[in-house]
Amino acid sequence: MERIASLSLDLDNQWSYLKTHGDPGWESFPSYLDVLVPRVLDFLKARHLTITFFVVGQDAALDKHHELLQAIAAAGHEIGNHSFRHEPWLHLYSKAEIKTELAMAEDHIERTTGYKPVGFRGPGYSLSQPLLEELIRRGYQYDASTLPNLLAPLARAYYFTTARFNPEQRRQRSALGGTLRDALRPITPYRWQTDRGTFIELPVTTLPVFRVPIHMSYLLCLSVLSPTLAAQYFNTALGLCRVIGVQPSLLLHPTDFLGCDDTRDLSFFPAMKLPSEKKLELVSCLLHRLCDQFTVLTLRRHADKVIETSILPVVEPNFHQISNSAL
Ligand SMILES: [Zn+2]
Repeated sequence: MERIASLSLDLDNQWSYLKTHGDPGWESFPSYLDVLVPRVLDFLKARHLTITFFVVGQDAALDKHHELLQAIAAAGHEIGNHSFRHEPWLHLYSKAEIKTELAMAEDHIERTTGYKPVGFRGPGYSLSQPLLEELIRRGYQYDASTLPNLLAPLARAYYFTTARFNPEQRRQRSALGGTLRDALRPITPYRWQTDRGTFIELPVTTLPVFRVPIHMSYLLCLSVLSPTLAAQYFNTALGLCRVIGVQPSLLLHPTDFLGCDDTRDLSFFPAMKLPSEKKLELVSCLLHRLCDQFTVLTLRRHADKVIETSILPVVEPNFHQISNSAL
């Protein structure tokens, strides 16, 4: 059987990281896409990789990004919807707000790139039942907003120490990176059961059995301690995926390609201490291992393959509702 994997990049921008972190100045939409996009496209082209870019609608709405986003589509990559405002509290939106959010992102992405998204990833892995139902209604093919990560509460606790959130901001971010309930969801593809029918979920793969992250941003954090340890850990993870038949869907972030030589504003991410050259070296080495062992596809192709070749389990959404009094 062909061993397949998929790869996606969340095209989070400088402003969206600052916004989530509660830092001032994000309202003027500071951007590093002019540096990042050509760098990533060159990197992928050199390795003959075609992946999925989850684009934020607000960035597609700004004229200064049009050529950059068009270049992504022209290179043959898939363009997915990563919301319009990139608010990790998207799961708290009403049905009407969800409709507007998805439609605005989709319109701007399609107008700019000519690509109508069929895949969605929520900012900060946020997802809700009304959101799934709206994706079905809009004709989407898959969602990729889950990361079954047992370390999420720990990572969130650390992240909170790097910022000064007021109670409302803490409430909004209380599910950032996923809840414990999310951590226990399946790590392989399945179908959500909703009132509008079933819908494919492609989870971001975490280490089988242990449910700890294996995507680049975590590996880069680990490499701050020891690059050898990061490489060995990734090898073990890929080996485990092969042995138990998991087709890994891995995730990239802009911060995997940007370093302290590019921006100092994102120093609340531990791996932003590293220079970009070092990061590119490690990402290149790790992706080389992935490509050696798996055929790497876009998420859209991964979803097609999953439909063709397997009968997927059906899962009840069962999302956690966060109330004001919960915090
Ligand atoms: Zn994002």
